[in-house]
Amino acid sequence: MRLDNKVALVTGGTRGIGAAICIRLAREGASIVFTGRDIRAATPVISAIKECGVDAFFHKADVTDKERMEEVVNEVAKQLGSLDILVNNAGITRDSLFIRMKEDDWNAVINTNLNGVFNVTQATAKIMLKQRSGSIINISSVIGVAGNAGQANYAASKAGIIGLTKALAKEFATRHVRVNAIAPGFIETEMTKKLPDEAREKALAQIPLNFFAEPSDIASAAAFLASEDSRYITGQVLVVDGGMKM
Ligand code: NAD
Repeated sequence: MRLDNKVALVTGGTRGIGAAICIRLAREGASIVFTGRDIRAATPVISAIKECGVDAFFHKADVTDKERMEEVVNEVAKQLGSLDILVNNAGITRDSLFIRMKEDDWNAVINTNLNGVFNVTQATAKIMLKQRSGSIINISSVIGVAGNAGQANYAASKAGIIGLTKALAKEFATRHVRVNAIAPGFIETEMTKKLPDEAREKALAQIPLNFFAEPSDIASAAAFLASEDSRYITGQVLVVDGGMKM
């Protein structure tokens, strides 16, 4: 129970990696507040969190709505007394070759994946800096580290997250607020299920461990970065990719 008495906020927690992170942090003892755009999708996650014996709260909120996210963050701190862990997980893809990429698809991905992190983190940081403790975990991607043809918007947003992580780690360190990123490789979620078989086979051939990860593999990395086990780690990108990009 590494996270007893801690309060965690996870964005986009209704499914996939976000839901797995909510449940794993709950198993470690943290009270969980998670956001998403669909209340119905939140119900099974709320039940799974409560089964761990901790409090679960869901807020319908879009990360692109700065005002709404500030409202949620401030409500969490007021209701639960602190905000110790933030996981910026919400993310989307709108893939196409760059030459054909629609401006709307560029803007949607940057707005959700990068501006969304700004929106939530600025409000959260004010609380964490005041309380002089906290762990911020940004879900980037190996695509942000290495790039990928057909994903220029996604790569730019995820590389932006890495730069932001390092800048904030330096800005917040004296107040004991740590900021790290996780760069997942290929994880079995709705996001990757929509890829054609050929793309999946190509990806598998590049993974030395020779299997796709489960969302729980990212959740265990998040639990480590959230806990005091990583108290001397800040500004880092933890790559969880089965050796794909080494
Ligand atoms: P997913 O599509 O299954 O889940 C994404 C979640 O984010 C959903 O709950 C969705 O509703 C939410 N979301 C999207 N836009 C939102 C918005 N504007 N406001 C609030 N919530 C929003 O995807 P996933 O695979 O679980 O991905 C989670 C994170 O991990 C993303 O940031 C993704 O880029 C990253 N990632 C995933 C993989 C992978 O292989 N699946 C690899 C690397 C990184």
